[in-house]
Amino acid sequence: MVSKVINKMKNLDIVSLFPDILNDYINSMPFKKKASPSVNIDIHQLRDFSNHKNKKVDDTQYGVEPGMVLMPEPLTNAVNHIQESRKSDTFTILLSPQGNLIDYKTLESLFNKDNLIFICGRYEGVDERFIEEKVDMELSVGDFVLSGGELPALLLIEALSRFTPGFLGNNDSFENDSFSKNFQSKLKGPVYTKPSNFNGKKVPEILLSGDHKKIIEWRNQISIARTKKRRNDLINRT
Ligand code: SAH
Repeated sequence: MVSKVINKMKNLDIVSLFPDILNDYINSMPFKKKASPSVNIDIHQLRDFSNHKNKKVDDTQYGVEPGMVLMPEPLTNAVNHIQESRKSDTFTILLSPQGNLIDYKTLESLFNKDNLIFICGRYEGVDERFIEEKVDMELSVGDFVLSGGELPALLLIEALSRFTPGFLGNNDSFENDSFSKNFQSKLKGPVYTKPSNFNGKKVPEILLSGDHKKIIEWRNQISIARTKKRRNDLINRT
């Protein structure tokens, strides 16, 4: 499914109050170095979309709790601006601890979209009215709270980039990762390299046998055994 759309151009737009966090990381990513024609990443400073004289983007929270909330207006202006600049449909993701947990299936569905917009929250989060009007999906990287959406956005982009030609030396590699279809959404299991004997610890003999069929059988067995032991919650997942 993924490989059919692998050569499409993809635009990733990220809206953030701290673009430097994103710039440094993205510019050092392998697919940027190789100037992959299939991914274009634009980073937008949220303050540029504020209509206030002092470029204000946050204000105090209504209610009883302290803390600042990102105002709906600059966020909406930013998304409108990006939507106007892209020729086809966009899909807007808010990184949020209140979103669905990101998994391999989510990544596959996102990979099929041409224009993704990532909104990085800060402080106490973003005004709910912006979410209702402009956000298509809220995604979380785990049941814990970070200070901003920048690291979650980078995590998501790096995971997506593994489906992108040129990012991995071998374009098939992503299909042989943990959680992929080849492993029925399970953990992949151990891998080995030279030497075949390291301080008396030997590589499993089957891997040296050259018997392709037996190796695949062994690999599948060990994948299931490891998944049962470490992540039993994945066992019935397909
Ligand atoms: N007060 C909010 C948390 C705000 S944390 C709450 O209790 O739900 C500030 C920002 O960091 C969020 O808006 C979000 O963009 C980002 N963030 C924090 N934890 C995250 C997580 N687990 N996954 C994705 N984004 C997260």
